[in-house]
This record gives sequence, structure tokens and C-alpha cells, in this order.
Amino acid sequence: MCGALRPSDAGKKAVLMGWVNRRRDLGSIIFIDLRDRTGVAQVVLNRELNSAAHDKANVLRNEYVIAVLGTVKLRDADTINKNIPTGEVELVADEIRILNDSKQPPFLPSDTALTNEETRLKYRYIDLRRDVMQFNIEMRHRVAKAIRDYLSGQGFFEIETPFMTRSTPEGARDYLVPSRVQPGAFYALPQSPQMFKQILMISGFDKYFQIVRCFRDEDLRADRQPEFTQIDLEMSYPQPERVWEVVEGFLVAAFKAAGLEIKTPFPRMDYDEAIRLYGIDKPDLRLPAFTDVRECFAPENLQQLAVNQNLPVVAIRIPSVGELSRAERDSVKPLFISKGGAKVFEDFKRIEKNFPDAAAKIAAKSRAQAGDLLVVVAGSAQTGEQTALPSHRKVTPSELAIYASAGLLRITLAQKYAERHGLFKKSGDPAKDFRFLWVTNFPMFEWYEGEKQWNAAHHPFTSPHEEDMSLLEKGVESVNDPQSPLSAVRALAYDVVLNGTELGSGSIRIHRQDVQRRIFRALGMSEEEAKARFGFFLEALEYGTPPHGGIALGLDRIVMILAGAESLREVIPFPKTARAVDLMVDAPTPVGEKQLKELGIIVKK
Ligand code: ASP
Repeated sequence: MCGALRPSDAGKKAVLMGWVNRRRDLGSIIFIDLRDRTGVAQVVLNRELNSAAHDKANVLRNEYVIAVLGTVKLRDADTINKNIPTGEVELVADEIRILNDSKQPPFLPSDTALTNEETRLKYRYIDLRRDVMQFNIEMRHRVAKAIRDYLSGQGFFEIETPFMTRSTPEGARDYLVPSRVQPGAFYALPQSPQMFKQILMISGFDKYFQIVRCFRDEDLRADRQPEFTQIDLEMSYPQPERVWEVVEGFLVAAFKAAGLEIKTPFPRMDYDEAIRLYGIDKPDLRLPAFTDVRECFAPENLQQLAVNQNLPVVAIRIPSVGELSRAERDSVKPLFISKGGAKVFEDFKRIEKNFPDAAAKIAAKSRAQAGDLLVVVAGSAQTGEQTALPSHRKVTPSELAIYASAGLLRITLAQKYAERHGLFKKSGDPAKDFRFLWVTNFPMFEWYEGEKQWNAAHHPFTSPHEEDMSLLEKGVESVNDPQSPLSAVRALAYDVVLNGTELGSGSIRIHRQDVQRRIFRALGMSEEEAKARFGFFLEALEYGTPPHGGIALGLDRIVMILAGAESLREVIPFPKTARAVDLMVDAPTPVGEKQLKELGIIVKK
């Protein structure tokens, strides 16, 4: 291979095949940089020594595919190229064969300035020849293999599940495939293998995994793909901790495949605690948590500030960012005009000016250093107070509204001023650069105001907490009420988070059909509807279902992080655009009348 030549090969005959990366014509001598997957080697053609080969080299252009037979030679000291691993040797050609020519590509794999992304995606085969893309796709292979090897070693079987199936709810729309033999009927592409993997537990395969494509028709946000790959697994009889141990194990293996050593076990945090400390369920631990500073103010201070005294007052600290300019402050202001009631946002400078005592206490309590940015967030006096939750749910909806705005502000400021604080810069120490976290005990249900009903926060197969079963039982009597006891039911669900990004989520599942029926009821599904959509599954649950649980992690995102790439499209060989279009094959496309007719489909313009 081109990238393999070394000084120890000097004197050997070699045949190299690859693409012409560059041709330099110095008259009697022509140099060719020949490229394959492994790197670049220099080929030399000397007219004096071999005029036939030299003549042939004259016609070569970028991206021609050639074979060269020649002799490996050490380069003269002054022509050694220290920048490439083959830089001490070259191949002196005896014979060249042109295996194929090439049109002048719209951009060259060796171009340092990147062409616009549309062109890259349309000519993806050229784009994939670039070093970075070759590196990323190789990384993807290595990471997937490390995970497969690890899980196989732990006794997991990789088992395939169907792509042409029924709807599996994961919160997105389905991609549908029309059936020709049953006009009017459709398969759904799986949003995940969720029900199949649970059925595999019922079938006696107590440890399953699959590196599997999932399909979700969503309004694509910046970095999503309609088809993406999950590391999906399920096991029988686990406690959550057992699932976490398996995930930590394969992440260690995946990071090792990228030369990084991470530490396990990952820290763990309750959902409520994550909200209280970070205002978000996927906290970035590289930044400091909030400080609760209500007690730092005298009650009359809070009155003067028109702040709700019963709700939290939190200080956000972003190290080394310095004070915000007026314009910077104004640019983040819209974050405070939140849906759930107005929030007060106070620049620390103003607090210092008006309430020096409080300011001193806040600075001390939040351990602010000179040069840190401090911002205080509170609920305005008009913010209502709701405390309908039982004691084990520690965060009420009004509190949540404040924590969530503060959380959004914290992360927005941190991202905006990352250059200034440098906390996101890689230090080279994986323990500092990769801050993993398990977030657990999520709420089971989320209230959807538009639909006036409860939705599953994870998915409807997630088990409620054993302690909250009675709340569920009571809750199904008031499924259209935002104050229903359903609001307090906790789920045995968990997310694995890395640097503020959710890598995956999973749960212990419901294994009793009566509980499963109750959950469907809580989600506003009638008995008939549940039967029509999930009858097969409810029936399967009746035949000796072992307790089980699992998780799925996004492979694309993990590879993206390990490759240091900026977008999922950099680690997926043939990705789609934000409009879900494949620019290379030009999909989706309209189809002909004949095909539509066969499928019994009429397209309305
Ligand atoms: N099926 C879930 C998902 O795709 C993961 C799981 O619960 O295992 O998010």
C-alpha cells in the first residue's frame, strides 16, 4: 500500500496502485504523489532512465487510477519530506499502467479549503477520498468493532430485527412503506427495535444487542439524521446498575479504540437534582453548577427587585468570562422572557451597586474569582406558585420554570463565550475532557398542554418506580388533568450524558401486562386503541415475561466525538441534508404512475 513504504523497503521491487494525488512536471523528471487509503507515496519518473514510462506519466491528471511497478529508493537527504510517514523513500518507476482516467473533479481530495457542503454531498465519493473522511470512517469501523467485541465477550448475541414492521413509538413520525400485495396497508420503518428486543427477552435470549439503523421522520434540527445508528441492547433480570456497567464497559472499549482512557463508574444524579443544580436534564459538568443565593438577600432586597420570595434565586457562574458588555447582555435577554411567567435577570454589577451586602455573600457562596461572570436569575413577583407535587418530587413546576431559564442561560453564555473561558478546550486529560454522567429517576409522564394529555417522557414501555405504582393507579382516574397524580410518577429511566450531550437513554421495562395496560390508559389510549396498536405485544406479555431492561446509544454521535468532528454528517458515509435529502442519489424522488397504481396510491398535488 502507498502509505506503507519505509526506509527498510529500500532496494525492494514494489507495485503500488492508487489515485494520482498530484503531478509535478520538472521536464526530464516527473513526480507523482500516489494516494490510496493508507497514505501517499512519491513516484519518480526519469526520462533519461525510462522514457516510455516518463511519456505515459505526461498524460496523467489528478485522480487518474494507475499501477506503478518500480524499485523503492532512499531519497537524498535534502529531498526528505518529514511531514509524511513515507517521506524518506520514493518509488522509481519501471512501468506505469493507466487503469482508468478521471474527469477533472469539482474539487480535489487534497484541497485544503473545503468546498461548500452541497457539492461535497453531491460528489460524496470524491469527498470520502479526503484524509479526514477516510480517518472518520475508519474510526467508525474501529469503534463499532470494539463495541461488538466487548458485548460479544459479555455474552450478548447480536440479533437482527425487521425493518419492515409496525409503528414503534419513540416520539417521532414513522416512515411508511406501502404494501403492494395489500393495497392501502403500510409497513412502518422502526423508530427503534424497542418491542422486538423486549420480545427477544420473552423469547429467552437474555442478552441481546444490535448496531442498528433507526428511522425517525422529524423536523430536522441542525444536527439530526432521519436514519441513524444506535447501539441497542436489552437484558433480562437487570437492576439499572447492571445496564450501566455494561454501557460503561463498551464505552471504555470504544474510547480505547480511539486511544483514550476513560474512568468508570460514571457519576450518577437524580433528574430532580440535575434540574436544581444545572436547570437541565443533561448537564455539562465542565461548567460550575448553580448556587442557590436566595438567602444572600435580605427580604426587602427581594421586594425591591420585585422577585418572588418563595421561588429559587440562583446564581450562574461562568469562570473567566468577565463582565458582559451592554450589547452582549441585551443579546441574551430574550432568554428571560420565558413562557412560564416573567423571570428577573440581574447583572451582578447592578446587584453590587444596589445591594453590596448581598453581592458580597453571593460572590463568596458561589466561590467567584476575579474575572468570573456572575448572573442572578429569579422569578418575578407575578410568577405563580404551584406546589402540587408530593414530597419525593423535589422540583415543582414553577421552580422548574426558573431553573430551566437559568439552565438555558448558563449553557448559552458558556457556548457563546467559550473562547473566553476555555473550559471546552481539550486538555489532553480524558478525565477532564470527557465528563460522563448518568441521570436517573426521570418523571414518567410529561404534560402536553396542546393535546391536554400526558405523554410518555421516555417511551410507553418504561417501568414506573415500584414506589409510585399507587400514584399510577390513582392517576389513571384523571388522565386529562395537569395536576393528576401522574405528574409525580417517577420512571426507572436513565440517560447517559457526555459534556452536556445525551448519548443514550434506556429504562427498566414494564413486564406485567396489567401495568402496561394502565400506562396506555394514562396516555389517553382506550382499551380498543391499545389493542389495535399493541395487541400482539400485550399478548406476548401474558406468556411468562421475565423482568428486563436496556438502553440505546447513538453510534454516530459517539464516533463524532471520538473523531473530533463537528457534525454527524462528517462520520456518516452517505448522510442526508437538513431537508432529509440525499444529494448524491437525489432521493426522495417522485415515482411513475405505473408504480403508484400497483401500490394503490393516488398522489394529491
Ligand atoms: N428504544 C429506546 C430509544 O431508542 C432506547 C431504549 O429504551 O432502550 O430511545
